[in-house]
Amino acid sequence: MNYVSSETYSLSQAIADDDADELSGFRNQFYIPQHHNSDCIYLTGNSLGLQPKQTEAYIKQELSDWATHGVEAHFRGKHPWYYYHHFCEEVLSELVGARKQEVAAMGSLTNNLHLLLVSFYRPVGRKYKILMEANAFPSDQYAIESQVRFHGYHPDDAIIELAPRPGERFWRTEDILRCIDEHRDELALVLMSGVNYLNGQFFNISEITAQAHQYKILAGFDLAHAIGNIPLQLHDWQADFACWCSYKYLNSGPGGVAGIFVHEKHSNNPSLPRFAGWWGNDESTRFEMKKGFHPQPGAAGWQLSNAPVLHMAAHRASLDLFKQAGINRLRAKSEKMTLVLKQIIDQYNQMATVRLQCITPDAMDERGCQFSLIASERGKEVFDVLTQHGVIADWREPNVIRMAPVPIYNSFMDLYRLKEILFNLAK
Ligand SMILES: *Cc1c(COP(=O)(O)O)cnc(C)c1O
Repeated sequence: MNYVSSETYSLSQAIADDDADELSGFRNQFYIPQHHNSDCIYLTGNSLGLQPKQTEAYIKQELSDWATHGVEAHFRGKHPWYYYHHFCEEVLSELVGARKQEVAAMGSLTNNLHLLLVSFYRPVGRKYKILMEANAFPSDQYAIESQVRFHGYHPDDAIIELAPRPGERFWRTEDILRCIDEHRDELALVLMSGVNYLNGQFFNISEITAQAHQYKILAGFDLAHAIGNIPLQLHDWQADFACWCSYKYLNSGPGGVAGIFVHEKHSNNPSLPRFAGWWGNDESTRFEMKKGFHPQPGAAGWQLSNAPVLHMAAHRASLDLFKQAGINRLRAKSEKMTLVLKQIIDQYNQMATVRLQCITPDAMDERGCQFSLIASERGKEVFDVLTQHGVIADWREPNVIRMAPVPIYNSFMDLYRLKEILFNLAK
């Protein structure tokens, strides 16, 4: 097939690849931003996923139930608000590889991270440190620094930040495992992302978790860039907890409702410390308004407030598309698209004066659909030309371009059009 040959990606191959793509129909279920009356080449689904056309109808259903029933929509609505988070469980559990009770759609990512740290960052004696990757997403850094301070430690001492080896751009799993080993007597928690936001590296959650558990260290993961991108198996991998947002690959709209995973070995333990709220209370007695918190079993026991139904309606609209498409089929298409994109970048680099150095691992099991490219001094010019031609990618200071062909709505034609723009630029 063309995408492994040395030829450049042709129009006829792009058409053939789209024709052969059993998921190609999903593109039409999304609004694609426009540029001079044609579709933008939208490569920023890793930052904000596009809007499914059915989102409006899902939200309108809740507005209508509100109009018709007022407060009684909690029980009489088409999707009773009282139980609303349950309507997200099935697909979320498939996406992260969990039992239904282990996931809950709730809150926002950074809020949830704090809630989970309350339960799972339990420093005792010499074991009070947290291992994380260097240059993690700032919100995660701030959350962890503030948690560490909250417990009376200093971040410089209590946070171990692991960077790639000098001169290298991504982490070697062996280095992560060795670091856990070296600090086994000091670590309380390993907290990493699933996919690093900047270089797109997918960490080996299973091996990292196993290594941590060997020394009775807990392991949690921020899956903001992993969920909906790569199939996950959190239950089998034994991860202790995880959190994510839904507006990136999950297309649930800006500031959309986030979610958590708590492994069942913890989630049914009512004595685990947590910050509680009424929505986490046992559903059968929640509205009795009694004194004394009785957590629901499972991740739902971490909920605080009543469900943000309008956001969750948008979430359901997108999750229903994921259910139809299936994460494994999406991943297969994603792998094929990234091979095409990588070939285009490699060929561009052979011709161009302003090169784009890929800092995302090449190995398929170490990345999702995002490529991060370091552009040299004049990289911003390349980025600006792409933007002028209707490519929506993303620029991270000082010099990183991130591009993510998202299998649920990007097409092979998008990649062909990107190739044409890049190659013209290289000439
Ligand atoms: C996108 C992202 C966030 C954003 O946090 P919010 O609380 O949703 O604003 C945090 N952490 C990571 C790793 C992210 O990728």
